[in-house]
Parts: sequence; C-alpha cells; structure tokens
Amino acid sequence: MEVERKQSVILVPCPYQGHLTPMLQLGNILHSQGFSVIVAHTRHNAPNYTNHPQFVFHSMDDGLQRIDMSFPSVETLYSMNENCKVHLRNYLAAMMEEEGNELACIIYDSVMFFVDDVATQLRVPTVVLYTFSAAFLHSIIMILQQPEKYFPFEDSQLMDPLPELHPLRYKDLPFYVVNNKIPEWDLEFHRATCDIGSSVAAIWNTMQDLEDSTLLRLQEHYKMPFFPIGPFHKMGPLDSLSSIFEEDNSCLEWLDKQAPNSVLYVSLGSLAMINDKELIETAWGLANSEQPFLWVIRPGSISGFQYAEALPDGYEEMVGERGRIVKWAPQKQVLAHPAVGGFYTHCGWNSTVESICEQVPMICRPFIADQLVNARYLSQIYKVGFEIEVIERTVIEKTIRKLMLSEEGENVKKRVVDMKQNIVAAMEIDGTSHKNLKDLVDFISALPSRLPPPTPVVVGS
Ligand code: UDP
Repeated sequence: MEVERKQSVILVPCPYQGHLTPMLQLGNILHSQGFSVIVAHTRHNAPNYTNHPQFVFHSMDDGLQRIDMSFPSVETLYSMNENCKVHLRNYLAAMMEEEGNELACIIYDSVMFFVDDVATQLRVPTVVLYTFSAAFLHSIIMILQQPEKYFPFEDSQLMDPLPELHPLRYKDLPFYVVNNKIPEWDLEFHRATCDIGSSVAAIWNTMQDLEDSTLLRLQEHYKMPFFPIGPFHKMGPLDSLSSIFEEDNSCLEWLDKQAPNSVLYVSLGSLAMINDKELIETAWGLANSEQPFLWVIRPGSISGFQYAEALPDGYEEMVGERGRIVKWAPQKQVLAHPAVGGFYTHCGWNSTVESICEQVPMICRPFIADQLVNARYLSQIYKVGFEIEVIERTVIEKTIRKLMLSEEGENVKKRVVDMKQNIVAAMEIDGTSHKNLKDLVDFISALPSRLPPPTPVVVGS
C-alpha cells in the first residue's frame, strides 16, 4: 500500500563504499518513515539505481577527469567538494521554485562539506551524517585543538600511551603520519570536515549505549542535537544492495559445507592496500593455522599487482577445500552465516558494526584513520578482538588459533555476544536507537522550510 509521503530529504553521499552504503541505508530508514528520498550523487561511483527503485536520483557532475577512484586522495575529495557546488546550487534553486516543493533538509556526509555552504546560501537546513564512530571524531577534535602536543614524535614514543586519548598510543594517531609528522594539508582537511557550519543536527551510525559519554562530550562541543540510530543496516526495512564491486555469492554455498563457528572470514574492506610481503605472510599464517578460511582479495589491493599473482605457487591447491578466495563477498550474509566464527578485519566502521551485530569476534589489522581507533577500542575497551601488530606468519597463525580455539578466544566470543544483545535491545521499542529514530523523524518533520536569514553583525556594538 502506498503511504502518503511527508516532506522530501536530499541525501548527499561521499562516493566510496564505506560512506555510500550507510547513506543509502539511512535513505531506506527515512523512506520507511514516510519521507521521499532524493539522492544527489557524484558521477563517479554512482549508486546502481535499479537496486533502489524507491529513491529519486540526481547525478551531479563532479568534474573529475580520468580520476583514480580506488582510493580517496585528499586532492580528489577537495576537487569533488569544489566541483559539485554549482551543480547542487542550481538543482536546489530550481527545486525551491517548484510549486508544492516540501524539502525538509539536506543530509550530507561529513566529508562532503561543500553542501553546508551551498544550502546556507539558500537557507535550506542541513544535517550532517557521520559514518564513523564517535570515538574517532572525538580523538580528531582533541588532536586538532593542539596538534603540536602530538606531532612530531620520536620513534621511541610509538608505543607510549596517550592518557587523554585512551586507549590510543602515538602509533594509533588517526592521521596521515609521515616520518612521525603530520602534513599541514592533512590537518587542514580534517579541520574542514570537522567544521559543520550551520548544520542543525547530526546523525550517527552508532549506538548511544555503546558510545554514550563520547557522544555527550561531542554534543557539548557542537551544541546541536545528535541522533545515534545505528546499526543502520538493521534499522531499515530492507538492506538493498549497495556494493560498488560484484559480489561472489558462491562462497555462501562453500560456507554451508563448513562446521559451525569454524571459519575465519578475512577481508580488509574496499580501500586498504597491502604489499606482496604481507600477502605472503597472511597466506602462510592462514594455511598454518589449519582453520578453514574465506579470504577476500580485492583486485588491485596488492601494490604492484593486478590481483593475487604474488600468492605462493600452488597455494590454492595446497589449502584445497579448507580455504576459499574470492574477489568480493556478500559480507553481511557471510558474517551472519553460522559457519563463521571469526573475522580478520581492517576495522572499518561498517565492518566493525556488522561483525558485532552478528556476534563475530575479530582479529584487528588496521591501516589508517578511524580503523586505528576502532582496533584499539575493539581490543582494549570492548575486548572483542585481538590486535595484530606484527605482520608475520607465526604471529598471524598464533592469533588465529587464539581466537578460534583457546579459552581466551571463548571469552572474547562471550563479550561480543553481550555486545550484540545490547544492540538488539537498543533497536527494540523503547531502546535508544528506536527512540532516537522517532525523535529524528519528529525533528526533521518540524524543521522550518527555510532557515531565518543570518543576523547582520553590527560593527562597533
Ligand atoms: N564489503 C563487502 N564485501 C567485501 C568486503 C567489504 O560487502 O568483500 C562491505 C562491508 O560489508 C562494508 C563495506 O564493504 O559494509 C566496507 O566498509 P568499511 O567501513 O568496513 O571499510 P572501508 O571499505 O570504508 O575501508
């Protein structure tokens, strides 16, 4: 039955897998709550329209020519922010002249910070979406307030704790660190993403019960309402396909043949790259652990190689039926499969939340940015994972055995089961995510269609 739609919302996602997915999931959630959803997306990495017939799509010319979209360089992100401005402004201006237009607000990924400039000029309310954890944003803000306190540091300090950023150490500072320094452009970029301009609220793909005190501290900083309504992929009525890569579903049949809780799922997300040495150490670590494994090796993710040519000769024949390698997996289904007992992950926020929701404990191998923070929280605070700090076959083998076969591993499993139950409780009626979603719907529905004009500054008063 067709429901009568409330106002519309425009979503502006950042066009990388880990950002696009939660924005489309948020679209599903808001659509199920009666809003019309328009997705204004860049030309590069555009979502597949046929997977989301319930949305209206609008393509913005991002002006990027022959760009390598395999990794979001800061240059690309700045260009996208600059190039999409005019397009969004024209689109919005035309829309606002239309009769019967009932645009409630624009919801944008915090990385697409140009949106707030454009919308403010036209006095349209904006809401920012954070696709990462509150712990990550909090550490970024703390560091931006006093970068000289952290950078540069000495090699000898790498493992030293940073009490005010507990449980982080210098080694885990979530910036682009080169020679123990941080480049000025990286600081500038983070300043831009943390400046939310005149946005009126923030939506989070996290859970209030999980990050309550950090969310409160951030809310004091930003002085606006926060709506933590995660986990997005479980809060909507359907989780439509949003993969940029083609999923290989054959691995589900292979999983069907494996014993419960026996398989280690290995995936480093959509962006991380490793070198051939790490590929080989991981390959031997997996083989020597003697545990069944499902390993995603994304084409182009091994530096200097097209695919997995650097695997030891005859590797796949040697591991035989005990191991399965695919180019891209239906990850949420894999994690939900009863055969999967552990996840060797780069700790992207989506992977982290998806794993906890399926009560799968983790082995953490973070690379950059929020992954470093997530890995520390998973291993040190939530204690639902073990961190791998040395990429060496014997270390990998031992850590896999510890997770899958030891008493310590069983304790980690028990804690992740508890975490999952807390998330389930948050989604129930009267749970925090459920309640926050209701508040968000009321909040968006009550937004004025145009913000008041800015108060003029009276010089000399
Ligand atoms: N993913 C997937 N299949 C894979 C690997 C990853 O569907 O083989 C999905 C995963 O479920 C998650 C997203 O890709 O939703 C990766 O996002 P995340 O934040 O974990 O990491 P990123 O790719 O941004 O580094």
